[in-house]
Amino acid sequence: MQGGAALYTGTKGLLRSLPAVGALMEESWAEGFCKQLGRETVKTIIVQTLNGYRDEFIKGGAAVPPEKSLIILGIKEALSKRAESSLKRVVNATGVVIHTNLGRAPLAGEAVRAAAQAGEAYSALEYSPQEGARTERNSHVEWAVCALTGAEAALVVNNNAAAVLLALSALAAGREVAVSCGELVEIGGSFRIPEILAFSGAKLIIAGCTNSTVIEDYRRVITENTAVLLKVHPSNYRMEGFVKETSRKELAALARECGLVFMEDLGSGLLCGLNLSFANREHPVSGSIKDGCDIVTFSGDKLAGGPQAGVIAGSKNLIDKLKKHQLLRALRVDKMTLAALEATLRLYLRGEQSKIPVIKMMEESPELLLKKARLLRRVLKNAAREHGAAPEGFKISVVETRDASGGGSYPTECLPGFGVEIRPAAAGGEEALARSFRLAPVPVITAVHDGAVVLHVRAMTAGDEKYAAAAFATALKRL
Ligand SMILES: *Cc1c(COP(=O)(O)O)cnc(C)c1O
Repeated sequence: MQGGAALYTGTKGLLRSLPAVGALMEESWAEGFCKQLGRETVKTIIVQTLNGYRDEFIKGGAAVPPEKSLIILGIKEALSKRAESSLKRVVNATGVVIHTNLGRAPLAGEAVRAAAQAGEAYSALEYSPQEGARTERNSHVEWAVCALTGAEAALVVNNNAAAVLLALSALAAGREVAVSCGELVEIGGSFRIPEILAFSGAKLIIAGCTNSTVIEDYRRVITENTAVLLKVHPSNYRMEGFVKETSRKELAALARECGLVFMEDLGSGLLCGLNLSFANREHPVSGSIKDGCDIVTFSGDKLAGGPQAGVIAGSKNLIDKLKKHQLLRALRVDKMTLAALEATLRLYLRGEQSKIPVIKMMEESPELLLKKARLLRRVLKNAAREHGAAPEGFKISVVETRDASGGGSYPTECLPGFGVEIRPAAAGGEEALARSFRLAPVPVITAVHDGAVVLHVRAMTAGDEKYAAAAFATALKRL
């Protein structure tokens, strides 16, 4: 029996007011969760929730016992959170195509099917049925990377950070790596060139100044112990004004002259020409190989539009060294990744890169984006009407947006796009509205700009407008 508040005074009383774990486990909702999560997990989550109350009582944070129904609601929320995958689908309405926090590149249909197939059955991952013998897992994608980049050989690992680490470990451990001062960058908070270099066992030697590094600067720092000239794509970082950079051709020539390896960390791996006015601001992988890079590394899930992977392309004798390095065993890729990457690379080989979502989203025409935005506005307005929202509560309109490719590529270029702006009548209401969009069953991640919530349509896929409408309906109920 749940007694009145007067019965439970003081910490002891409060503690006694909490429902018993055993009794809660008997309730029908708990049974339901047990089917999804198992008895032990449900019990643990109930105990944890009750412990939360206990701690609060002991700290003196509550004077009266909470309603039992409230406690149960809290437990149910905690259980619901665990009963479904938290790696859930979300709608990317941010206008950033390659959004690292939202999983970077959504895969092409063919890549998804290839990964599913590789996942659900045995496969010839490291086996040749013709020869009845063991083969290399890398062989499934190496040929395609070579065909697309012009490299002699290639190797695929877990991600680009792993690619850089493996290459430096295999080619420069115990020796020196020369990097331009202006390229000692940090990418995404945890990948810092000086640190990854130190981790590989190589010693960093710095050439030139922050804003100016010419070929003579490299020549000056090279010693007998230097192994690699490393060029790094500065990713999200840009220098403007008086800036001098050394060309790849010059670096390649110097590396040859001094018997060094010329390596480039390209970050975003552009594998095809793009139909963009500023497409040439990113250097394609094939361009680096053509200019004389011995080793190029790039991500599989940035501009390449495939699964998370790090691709290393370059000359055969160097790639062979990497293939023999012990570290490769720790950095190798899974069969599903290989299958998805192979399928993605095939699309490039066939000239069907417009089927790769990130490429399609980047190249989307303004006319189509405007059409998408108009459809979204209609759907959102209908949702508002159906929920009886006062039409003066929000102003919903199509607006021009500044979208971005993301993933460190084209950092200073804006992709002109369209979106739908929802401007709440009440000042400051935009943050609450954006939060409500995020709390929907299929969360919608929006931009907030100048007092309004903005849904950029560029990275929204077909059918996402329905999720946006459902989220808006949820938001209207909540607010
Ligand atoms: C993104 C990036 C990395 C890290 O690549 P991941 O695939 O995220 O590991 C390394 N170097 C550069 C230049 C990058 O842009």
